Amino acid sequence: MTGPSTRGTSTRTPPLRGRHVLISGAGIAGPALAHWLLHHGADVTVVETATALRGGGFAVDFRGPAHLGVLERMGVLDELRALQTHGGAMRCVDARGREIFTLPAEFAGGEIEVLRRDLSRVLYERGAERASYIFGDTVTDLNETADGVRADFARSPSRTFDLVVGADGLHSRVRSIVFGEEGRFVRHLGHFLAGWDLPNDAGWTSTAEQFNVPGRMASGAADARDQGRAGAFLVFTGPPSLHDWHDTEAHKALVKQAFDGLPWRVPQLLSTLDGAPELYFDSISRVTVPHWTSGRVALLGDAAWGVTLGGMGVGTGLVGAYVLAGELAAARGDHRVALPAYEERLRRYAARWQRGANPGEFLAPSTATRLRVRNAMFRTSVVRRLLLAGTSSLAANIDLPSYGS
Ligand SMILES: Cc1cc2nc3c(=O)[nH]c(=O)nc-3n(C[C@H](O)[C@H](O)[C@H](O)COP(=O)(O)OP(=O)(O)OC[C@H]3O[C@@H](n4cnc5c(N)ncnc54)[C@H](O)[C@@H]3O)c2cc1C
Repeated sequence: MTGPSTRGTSTRTPPLRGRHVLISGAGIAGPALAHWLLHHGADVTVVETATALRGGGFAVDFRGPAHLGVLERMGVLDELRALQTHGGAMRCVDARGREIFTLPAEFAGGEIEVLRRDLSRVLYERGAERASYIFGDTVTDLNETADGVRADFARSPSRTFDLVVGADGLHSRVRSIVFGEEGRFVRHLGHFLAGWDLPNDAGWTSTAEQFNVPGRMASGAADARDQGRAGAFLVFTGPPSLHDWHDTEAHKALVKQAFDGLPWRVPQLLSTLDGAPELYFDSISRVTVPHWTSGRVALLGDAAWGVTLGGMGVGTGLVGAYVLAGELAAARGDHRVALPAYEERLRRYAARWQRGANPGEFLAPSTATRLRVRNAMFRTSVVRRLLLAGTSSLAANIDLPSYGS
């Protein structure tokens, strides 16, 4: 392992010793932050609303020196390299299975691609024994006092922390309690996504097959690490009506309704939905929060700057966790110094990739004309090359500061 995690740790008191931090959310950014806070000596509690680590989702990737640098400093780079999926091409077909165009594996794969569930587990395991993880609970209220933030939970007894971090995703509870209701910060871009695992009974291969009608995209691929399993990934247009983001049965009903009567392999995919162990369902949205910090509370990851399927959210969440913990350590836990410094360092970096196009409109163009234009474009090899160049340059960079302890 290189970087700050091995530097200067010998005799000095860790800078965050005696500080109690609550992290809401055990997705990607939360466990990464837990690792770094523990490294700097803090006492860490992570509360996660799901009853166990969430296993849903697809492959996620890392691009550029900042992403790889932070993984290396965490000491997880080699483990993740061993878990790589190596990506797969994406083949777009018509209702009879005839190819319209194929995007090469490099388009989606990044420099390291792993399944989100593997990443989440690896990050969790970095701190699971030393942090206190509470599953199946949520904060219900947060009140700042002179010397801390009192957190009320749905199940656990109330406690006071020195700092609270909302790493609880696009529909962050911490954000709505402290910063304001979701509608002020989350812009629905017009599409929803649904993904789930299924037994690979229908011969899906590692090349993802994708079928479109206007406003709908259905796709399937074999699980990169277990060919006996497959993943379904569906995207569809829908209005920004209010959803209970934890009501899986309602989400399943929405998916069935959206894809009802479509041809190709859609009926086979839908027939597996009820038996799915977990459904990853969300709106495709962009989060814009004018300030990520307020007093002793900070937002991190998708809660602060998320774009669903934005491609860079995972790496940026890890970089953000490293910087937030590092600034706290550098300020020896003084949130009045550390939180503005965290925001200052990350704002431009996060904003750069956030401005990108709407991934929903690319995956499931909403009108017949847009769908025809997209297909015609991707049949052209020049466009495919340009697109590939574009995805590589997505890896906005940031010089990772060195936060010795
Ligand atoms: C199940 C799942 C699958 C995903 N799959 C993909 C994918 O395939 N591709 C992709 O690009 N991105 C995916 N994402 C999003 C991706 O993980 C994030 O964009 C990125 O990693 C930033 O991570 P995050 O930790 O900020 O947010 P997330 O990874 O979304 O994690 C947020 C965590 O907070 C938890 N949470 C929510 N509300 C509360 C609450 N009230 N109290 C406590 N905890 C709460 C959630 O259950 C979740 O575990 C997925 C997210 C989830 C939750």
